[in-house]
Amino acid sequence: MADVCGPGPEETLAGDQGGSAAGGDGEAPAAAARDLPVCLIVLGMAGSGKTTFVQRLTAYLHSRKAPPYVINLDPAVHEVPFPANIDIRDTVNYKEVMKQYGLGPNGGIVTSLNLFATRFDQVMQFIEKKQHDHRYVLIDTPGQIEVFTWSASGTIITETLASSFPCVVIYVMDTSRSVSPVTFMSNMLYACSILYKTKLPFIVAMNKTDIIDHSFAVEWMQDFEVFQDALNQETSYVSNLTRSMSLVLDEFYTNLRVVGVSAVAGTGLDELFVQVEDAAKEYDRDYRPEYERLRKQLADAQSLKQQQQLERLRKDLGAVNITKTPATEDLHIAGPSDLIMTRGSRDDDEEEEEDEDSDTDDIDHNVTEESKEGDAFGNFLKDRKEVIQVRNRKDAIPDGH
Ligand code: GDP
Ligand code: MG
Repeated sequence: MADVCGPGPEETLAGDQGGSAAGGDGEAPAAAARDLPVCLIVLGMAGSGKTTFVQRLTAYLHSRKAPPYVINLDPAVHEVPFPANIDIRDTVNYKEVMKQYGLGPNGGIVTSLNLFATRFDQVMQFIEKKQHDHRYVLIDTPGQIEVFTWSASGTIITETLASSFPCVVIYVMDTSRSVSPVTFMSNMLYACSILYKTKLPFIVAMNKTDIIDHSFAVEWMQDFEVFQDALNQETSYVSNLTRSMSLVLDEFYTNLRVVGVSAVAGTGLDELFVQVEDAAKEYDRDYRPEYERLRKQLADAQSLKQQQQLERLRKDLGAVNITKTPATEDLHIAGPSDLIMTRGSRDDDEEEEEDEDSDTDDIDHNVTEESKEGDAFGNFLKDRKEVIQVRNRKDAIPDGH
């Protein structure tokens, strides 16, 4: 039980935080006087450096006497290198989810996130309780970006956060792997799609500038001709489509906040927080009214679609006890697992059962369409459970061929 995540860091962190909200410290990042913490939702492709970036931000903010409230939403990460106030792994045992539902790694992550989303109201209570102690809430997301950005649970989590707190998306990009104009453009197209999907103020953090300076990218974004030249030099075929795409992106770049950072070296963070404050203002100005409406909807109509989706998820979880409220102070301390599947032991060293199939394909298709996902996910869980139960029964019969 212990090695999934001990309660230590949370307690230490919480203990440290008395008085940090005062915020009068000159060293703290320039923060406008405000009551609510800003949630920084860190997104990016696998390996772009999200976790390292969150770790770096945490250290940076601690050194500025503004310790953040930190949430890890990656159920599959082996080690969380920062003290997480809330860690999804304390609530959902990813390996157990894979085992019980006979899922591959990707399906396990999606399902774990879905399970966690059903408890997100509790997470909100924890954040609300601590909201005066923190200026920033940092949220690290699963390795693969699509798990969060293209799933109903990611949307539920984002919207729930954004209807209570100013939220900003930080899109972490691996600069060193974007030096080819076509790859760069693809990455920016992806960023563009995330911008439209999340409907939140947006900052592109060009990470790993210790490997390569991001100035080449900035130049490409500022000067269309330079980018076209770079494109022309590339030997691979450059279609008209590529050219047209880059023209479209030119528009996207116009109002885009871009900061070069190195999560490893810790550079660029002062500039990043200038941008964060600017983005937070943008949230207040342009997004808050919309989210306040959403919030009212949530309260008045019990959130219509979202509640129904959650209900369905809850119903379909069968044996999983999700209604139990952690009696302890924080979800983190609630310990491993109101949500952990009860069957099987919680032994993280246990070998994974190798699943021969392509379950992840199924679930990936399901997650792309939110409107149908509640049903699809429910049916999927039911089916999987039955399959696994049959399989377990078979396994229980010694050599029953
Ligand atoms: P995630 O999957 O997005 O969470 O990425 P990780 O934070 O796990 O980082 C992936 C890899 O990139 C790790 O090997 C990190 O050490 C490395 N990395 C992250 N940030 C930087 C950086 O700023 N510079 C360099 N050189 N490597 C980095
Ligand atoms: Mg990570």
